[in-house]
Amino acid sequence: MLDINKLTEICNKFGCRITPECSLSEYVTFRFGGNCRALISINSADSAVGILRYLRTENIKYFVLGRGSNVIVPDEGFDGVVLLFGSDFANIEVIGNTIKCDAGALLASACVHAQQSGLAGMENLFGIPGTVGGALYMNAGAYDSEMADVVLSAEYIDENCEKRFITRENMELSYRHSIFSGKNLVITSVTVGLAEGNPDIIRENMTACMNKRRSKQPLEFPSAGSTFKRPEGSYASLLIEQCGLKGLTCGGAMVSEKHSGFVINKGYATSADVLELCGKVQQIVKEKTGYVLELEPVVLK
Ligand SMILES: Cc1cc2nc3c(=O)[nH]c(=O)nc-3n(C[C@H](O)[C@H](O)[C@H](O)COP(=O)(O)OP(=O)(O)OC[C@H]3O[C@@H](n4cnc5c(N)ncnc54)[C@H](O)[C@@H]3O)c2cc1C
Repeated sequence: MLDINKLTEICNKFGCRITPECSLSEYVTFRFGGNCRALISINSADSAVGILRYLRTENIKYFVLGRGSNVIVPDEGFDGVVLLFGSDFANIEVIGNTIKCDAGALLASACVHAQQSGLAGMENLFGIPGTVGGALYMNAGAYDSEMADVVLSAEYIDENCEKRFITRENMELSYRHSIFSGKNLVITSVTVGLAEGNPDIIRENMTACMNKRRSKQPLEFPSAGSTFKRPEGSYASLLIEQCGLKGLTCGGAMVSEKHSGFVINKGYATSADVLELCGKVQQIVKEKTGYVLELEPVVLK
């Protein structure tokens, strides 16, 4: 049973902000979803350890949230606590050719720090929304680059609430997957290693990357980016387009006309709309092409 007074006391002890009965729609890029019992804004690895200890001892359900750019929140909400790794825990430190980021730092900010320090290697990741912690969890990537190419090490909290250190070789990084995926591990910091480069060229490459996104992706609508993982041997967007599904709609959710890999929120979509639409797309693509499309966003449960 969640004792909100006790939880507030613990948050106060660590100086973390807590919002009881918080609507999650503002915290996810899809812009829908119900309430959680409480949202706690984590401000350090130590506060995360302290709060996790309490939640785990009391058997209280929790979910670790970054920028919510790859999460679907059910309309009925989440009967647990959301630990937000965001702007309260977002320090970025450049040390030689490496950049150490708190898990809540934006990936885009890390890219800008790299550019300003004349460090190359993250240009193609610029424009991926979300935090550095979320990017490592998902092994986010774009335009033939991914987190696996630049990450050196990370700090995380394990199942026993102990702080741990892990290097890239042990992270099991593959397409949209890491050792952290689906496990009870909480990333607290990520260090990337980069090469020296010309800041002007790095900036140009970042701008080119962002322009490509703006021209190809429906960024004017809320979404969670590519809604389906790339199936082995094809592309989700290609299959969806070949099946004539561009513009397919369920309630306020629609397969984008601009980029068929994106399901967008036209402004009044519910979680049920999006999941129904995704189910239809999966079924039709399977029937017509034989490919099985897997959802990329994590459904909060
Ligand atoms: C417009 C748009 C474009 C996108 N383009 C791309 C793209 O090009 N390439 C790409 O790979 N993705 C893309 N995405 C998806 C998304 O931006 C990435 O997956 C991103 O890395 C998620 O980061 P986040 O902080 O928002 O994580 P969230 O969405 O908040 O969380 C995602 C998962 O990571 C877990 N998580 C987050 N932080 C931590 C932590 N500190 N410790 C443990 N677990 C954690 C969460 O529990 C959840 O399971 C796009 C999304 C949008 C909306």
